Amino acid sequence: MFSDNMAISTHYSTAKTRIFGICIRFTWCNMSSFKLDWKQIDTVLLDMDGTILDLYFDNFFWQEYLPMCWGEQHGLDKESAKRKLVPRFKSKEGTLSWYCLDYWAHELDIDVLKLKSDVEDLIQVRPQALNFMTTLISMGKQLIMVTNAHPDLIAMKLERTGIGDYFNHIICAHDLGSAKEHIEFWSRLNEKVPYSVKNTILIDDNITVLRAARDYGITYLLSIAKPDSRAPIRDSEEFVSIENFNDVLSGY
Ligand SMILES: [Mg+2]
Repeated sequence: MFSDNMAISTHYSTAKTRIFGICIRFTWCNMSSFKLDWKQIDTVLLDMDGTILDLYFDNFFWQEYLPMCWGEQHGLDKESAKRKLVPRFKSKEGTLSWYCLDYWAHELDIDVLKLKSDVEDLIQVRPQALNFMTTLISMGKQLIMVTNAHPDLIAMKLERTGIGDYFNHIICAHDLGSAKEHIEFWSRLNEKVPYSVKNTILIDDNITVLRAARDYGITYLLSIAKPDSRAPIRDSEEFVSIENFNDVLSGY
């Protein structure tokens, strides 16, 4: 269904496209291409996991590796451990606790950061992400990483990938005291690093995060079609999703 040149996920309906059209100011060409008016954008907010980095590392860790290790500690096989852990994970979705390694280390009585380091070989930059950021810098855009990830995990991922060098600022939700899923994050971010909502784009694989940023007033919003390289393309709901960063720059 998707070609290299196809910039827009076809997972949304015409109705959603109309809703989306109210939210942001894209110049629509057709269903297979679009142009961002980059002259109107001076700040690019980029999520880390699932946007710049492959979400496979995180999905594998929480869905497979942690249940296996925690299960061994409690005399359970991996599937039994999953049945016990998944409801506990779900109860914290969208909160800072969900993203807090210290919280889970305490809750599960296991060294989560050590387990993360066991599988850090799986941390990978998504295709074209580095070229995309290099181009944005050459365009004179301010690049800000906005992430819910725990500071220790950010440090591990920056060390492993070198992506920190591309950003003017790296903002951790834990430092702002609110997850990106909540509107408070976006107002607190504006106090810390002033940005104009009318001249800012957020690219993030989390739909709830995009909705909160939209509620705050950020004009340009894009989702990621395939944040986990080993999972299927998913529905990006009312947001345009990109499969290839190069397409975001088409026509510039
Ligand atoms: Mg993400």
